[in-house]
Amino acid sequence: MEIYVLDSSAILSGKPIDLDGRIVIPESVEREVMKEDPKLFDFIQGKDVSMEHPSKESLLLVKEAAEKLGEGRRLSRVDKEVLAVALDNLERGDVCIITDDYSIQNVASFLGLKFKGLSEKGISERFVWRFRCKGCKKVFKRFFPSCPICGSELKPIVKRKTKVRS
Ligand SMILES: [Zn+2]
Repeated sequence: MEIYVLDSSAILSGKPIDLDGRIVIPESVEREVMKEDPKLFDFIQGKDVSMEHPSKESLLLVKEAAEKLGEGRRLSRVDKEVLAVALDNLERGDVCIITDDYSIQNVASFLGLKFKGLSEKGISERFVWRFRCKGCKKVFKRFFPSCPICGSELKPIVKRKTKVRS
């Protein structure tokens, strides 16, 4: 099942959002949008929608990933919750974040999360990250706070750059 996690910028843009799948909205995003204009939520009528609060574990992982990338200060609390809610949903299906925010996109790719932008030009170059353990040398496709096998520190490596059109 396709699961879409929406960030505030996507909804506040007022652009048409037509998604076929389950829609997940972090509670903090819901609050931000409701403050602005409740009508912006019209697009969720008749859809499979849930409002969710992120787990502490996922939030912590997002914070660590953002620090490693130097995006810590560019991400708001709400942005971090968007990423954390996406991580929480990974075991339920195919997760994709809908966001035009470059920092969210950057951290998403670091965490192995898919994303799509609503505007024509999203992130133009995307790094594909891999993480090599400094201890056992095993390479992982996503970021962990420490190696799941031996517990050593993971070193981010850029596998390749890809041009992405969104
Ligand atoms: Zn290791």
